[in-house]
Amino acid sequence: MQHPARFTGNMFTKFRTLSPAVFASVSATVLTLVALTLLLALGACAPGAREASTDSGNFGVVEAPPEGDGTVFADTSPAAASGDGSIHDPNGISVHADHAAMAGLDPALHDAVLAAADRAAADGIELRVTSGWRSAELQQQLLDDAVVTYGSEEEARKWVDTPERSSHVTGQAVDIGGLEESLWMGQYGSEFGLCQTFENERWHFELAELEADGMCPAPPYTSAAERP
Ligand SMILES: [Zn+2]
Repeated sequence: MQHPARFTGNMFTKFRTLSPAVFASVSATVLTLVALTLLLALGACAPGAREASTDSGNFGVVEAPPEGDGTVFADTSPAAASGDGSIHDPNGISVHADHAAMAGLDPALHDAVLAAADRAAADGIELRVTSGWRSAELQQQLLDDAVVTYGSEEEARKWVDTPERSSHVTGQAVDIGGLEESLWMGQYGSEFGLCQTFENERWHFELAELEADGMCPAPPYTSAAERP
């Protein structure tokens, strides 16, 4: 049996004396093994990398300033990557989407929205939801962002409620995207008990008690800040 050091030395000597063709072949094998090891290491990291991105694939994209109650402009917050109800597509999601914003809605409201969407589809209108259920954390994030956007807490509160008060957090409100679509809902939503809650948010609907004639009452509040 050879001495280990002598054995290793012999191996190197042998390696050096290999013909160029064999040397290239051995080198290629070693490089392939190294590459495979690196790929395996990267693969092991991949799930974590995916968790850091959003489900819409537009991670890092800063959206336009908010229209409405601020659903869109929290896209890049860390919380937006989880099932907190945030919707990353400014055009909203289908009412049939497998999404926390729909799944977290109060069942009665959920059913009403689906029924309204069916009726709208018959009129050639696709109702899409830009916000439904939101976690308390997301609501707080939206409020924090709105304070920055609107310059004061007082102004922000006209558009974004606190987590303790928001009917989105309790799953009792839904926002409908698009002018034509929200106007359709304003006109026909009463057939499904869906009424506009705030004068300044034509897109925000909740189940409400209808008037005797079956129509929605006028929006009871000028803005979210007014609701007790
Ligand atoms: Zn809303």
